[in-house]
Amino acid sequence: MGAGSAGCVVADRVGRSGVDDVLVLEAGGAAPPVDLAVLPLADPSRVRVHHDRDGTALPRGAGLGGSSAVNGGYFLRAHACDLAGWARSTWDPQLVEDVYTSLDGGDAGGGAMAVRRVPDAELRPRARAFEAAMRRAGHEHVAGVWPTAGIVRVRLNATGSRRRTAADALLSAAVARPNVTLRVRSPVERIEIDSETVRSVILVDGTAIPADVVVLCAGTIGSATVAARSGVATTMPLAEHREVLVRSRGVSIGPGPIGPVLQSVVHTDDGFEIRCYEHDFADHVDGVPRSGPAIGVAAMRPVGPGSITIAPDGTSDIDLGRPDAAGTARMRALADEVAAMLDGPDFAGLVVPGSTTVDDTLSTSHHAWGALPLGSAADWDGRVRGVDGLWVADAAGLPTPLSSGPHATVMMAASVIGEQVAAAGLS
Ligand SMILES: Cc1cc2nc3c(=O)[nH]c(=O)nc-3n(C[C@H](O)[C@H](O)[C@H](O)COP(=O)(O)OP(=O)(O)OC[C@H]3O[C@@H](n4cnc5c(N)ncnc54)[C@H](O)[C@@H]3O)c2cc1C
Repeated sequence: MGAGSAGCVVADRVGRSGVDDVLVLEAGGAAPPVDLAVLPLADPSRVRVHHDRDGTALPRGAGLGGSSAVNGGYFLRAHACDLAGWARSTWDPQLVEDVYTSLDGGDAGGGAMAVRRVPDAELRPRARAFEAAMRRAGHEHVAGVWPTAGIVRVRLNATGSRRRTAADALLSAAVARPNVTLRVRSPVERIEIDSETVRSVILVDGTAIPADVVVLCAGTIGSATVAARSGVATTMPLAEHREVLVRSRGVSIGPGPIGPVLQSVVHTDDGFEIRCYEHDFADHVDGVPRSGPAIGVAAMRPVGPGSITIAPDGTSDIDLGRPDAAGTARMRALADEVAAMLDGPDFAGLVVPGSTTVDDTLSTSHHAWGALPLGSAADWDGRVRGVDGLWVADAAGLPTPLSSGPHATVMMAASVIGEQVAAAGLS
């Protein structure tokens, strides 16, 4: 259910195992991937916009590739310590290493997602100034494919202005197999569960499709919504990387086409990610007022408990949560340090002096995860507890906060769970 980042991986893994009758149901359309520069909010076949309880827009990719077709193209592994508590019976460190490498190509880059580290020669002036200022502040560059605290050059599943989506990487080959069928514009309403066993999938148009196994890959909000409509749960946990934006007027892009929005970030040893955005968000998102390029301070590990509740009429109440008082205070202190850095010598000529402001409100990273976490709502291999035949393989299943953006880890986890689904289907 869902042909996004996770669904494309699962379709590939289950399809290639030889399991009979794999059906991929995708709510959105089959439109081709979009350019990095555009978040097509007004096109419902590509983007579905949810809102949290504060009215914050939460766009999610729809159609083939899901959010991998609209995201920022940043493809960093989690920190190894983020995964330390994942049960080794399923998440053996060597397996995790191998699966990440199959996606990102390891040190050399490449892999299914054609990943590459931003080379020095492509670093834009803002990212160059950011790294210089961060070195001056005592941070060192991180080498290798596993990020740790320090200056982390972003690894991208994008070249120039085009990203490689999960559908490009894995779905096209999967649907060429005779045992895999794809249906777009086929939103799932609910799963029919009887005697604690999956029986069928009911589409929004009322069509019932018998099923022995359903894998939830509709994204955190989508999978939580279908789980609620199916009677699995009503209120579920939710986590998000909340962010404070430090804005200043100034140069946002160098010459040439708009490329990746992030080239360089700093990871602090207490779980924050400082993101040097290259562009004004108005360059990427239709209708957003121009406010200058920002530097974001995101709370990656001090996440606060959020929740998602789906009412019987299908409406959702989404609370993204927020770090506790100590986490918020630290995030604000880091934002003040960033503001001072923007007024310092490294950014001279790149920002208008005195134009820097720190947002009062918290933004969202568009990373929400953990509605049906492995190890509690689901077993460590992805089986949703209490419903035979129901699995979760997308960001809804992520069980712990990640110190990096989630995309690479969502795909890694979907691969491991997809193999488990395939093994169960063949046994
Ligand atoms: C704007 C944006 C920018 C981001 N930037 C980055 C980044 O640069 N780096 C990073 O690491 N992470 C980034 N992320 C997060 C990352 O892209 C997501 O965590 C990841 O793609 C989630 O994958 P998923 O499979 O859980 O969900 P998705 O990829 O969102 O896939 C869900 C799919 O299910 C479909 N669906 C939903 N409901 C139904 C239904 N009822 N029936 C059938 N199909 C359904 C949807 O249409 C969609 O295709 C970003 C996210 C967004 C939205």
